[in-house]
Amino acid sequence: MISVARNEASAEFFDGTARGELLVRRCPRCSPLIAPNVPQCPACGSTELTWVPASGRATLVTWTVVPVPGGGHVVAGIVELAEGPWLHARIRGVAPEDLAEGIALGVGFERHEDGEAVPVFHA
Ligand SMILES: [Zn+2]
Repeated sequence: MISVARNEASAEFFDGTARGELLVRRCPRCSPLIAPNVPQCPACGSTELTWVPASGRATLVTWTVVPVPGGGHVVAGIVELAEGPWLHARIRGVAPEDLAEGIALGVGFERHEDGEAVPVFHA
């Protein structure tokens, strides 16, 4: 999961979400983009990663419908960004019976109680 806590490693990510930008990491030596919560390049091991904005377009990979005490549910999903990296995120605005692998989603941002905006994905 993306940590909701701001720390040195996540500060730039949350500065991005506060602006309405979804940032992913890029290794300056290798070209593939890397999920924002991965601190090290999986190809070369570099920790000298830079941040680049993602388009916010994604497709649904897998999901779990989690009942909420008192009624309703939330959908916890894994999405594949158009740029390649996978993210854990809440899925909003899709009825459980309409959830399907590969449906197109777009990013939005929700602010949590601790004040950080976190990415969520809508159909
Ligand atoms: Zn690398």
